[in-house]
Amino acid sequence: MSIEFDTQWPTQAQRQRGLLEWVKAQPRPCWLTWPGRDPARHRVVVTLLHGNEPSGLKALWTLMASPPQCAATSHFCIAHLEAARLDGGFVHRHAPGRPDLNRCFGRAGLGWEYGLAHAIAERIRSLQPEAVVDLHNTSGSGPSFAVSMADTPAHRALASRFTERMLRTQVRLGALMELTTPQTPIVTIECGGAMDPASDEVARAGLLRFLADDPLLDEPRGAWPLEVLHRPVRVQLAPGCRIDYGVGPVAGCDLVLPPDIEQCNFGWLDGGTELGWLGPDGLAALRLSDGLSELAVEQWFVEREGRLCLRHPGKLFMITSNPSIALSDCLFYMVKA
Ligand SMILES: [Zn+2]
Repeated sequence: MSIEFDTQWPTQAQRQRGLLEWVKAQPRPCWLTWPGRDPARHRVVVTLLHGNEPSGLKALWTLMASPPQCAATSHFCIAHLEAARLDGGFVHRHAPGRPDLNRCFGRAGLGWEYGLAHAIAERIRSLQPEAVVDLHNTSGSGPSFAVSMADTPAHRALASRFTERMLRTQVRLGALMELTTPQTPIVTIECGGAMDPASDEVARAGLLRFLADDPLLDEPRGAWPLEVLHRPVRVQLAPGCRIDYGVGPVAGCDLVLPPDIEQCNFGWLDGGTELGWLGPDGLAALRLSDGLSELAVEQWFVEREGRLCLRHPGKLFMITSNPSIALSDCLFYMVKA
């Protein structure tokens, strides 16, 4: 995989043939640039680190028809075209059997994905941009939110260009946003579900603000208040456990969640709320971490008559109803009230 990725903007003829045809025709990751009023300052937009999360790229594609007045030189990294073009397009988060590109930042490992992550990080470092946003979609349906390693006015300002909630996490997985520095704040924007048209609009409207607003790192006046949720806990299935989705217990499964569990995304849930059905090992099927250490499952959940219940009022988010993501990544994140 070549990591020389400077690219020409799509021509009008290419734009008419559509985004998917362009995606399929790109031999390597793309790095595109628009000039800004102040050529000495830089802003970076990264998107498609996950091949099945197209809202950021779709938003950029829409803006190409009439590029906005950028305040600073604006760079766009369209990363995982390799995964995006497989099997009809925007189906695979990463190529089957390959590392997850957004788990390769700041880490060493085998595979060209680590080299690409390193090249993207180096490019960002050399530009010294005033801000970076990394646009994603959630695997399940749900509202938009930002994820940040730090809760500073700059990170809040970036988040609030796109959305009204921000998670401040300490979970380090090898994601681009972990490279945030005081000089270059980086936030992840989860625009909402990949299938929701609203997510494309979150990306488009946010991108316009991110590119045009100046100054960028002051909290915008008159914007909606930003809700910040601290220290989300990552809820995973214990190794070797089995999950299913349905409306009652399933023999041989350690956890069954209802198929519409995604509807709980970001709603306040009372203590005692039933989330699903546990197997014979009960709460031992779960693993909880706040990114620094493992947490006792019993502090967050109780088992009542075979059901998994919340011990305290709280919020759940990034819930997936995709069993392969539930097994390979996590079930959901949560915070206490
Ligand atoms: Zn993603």
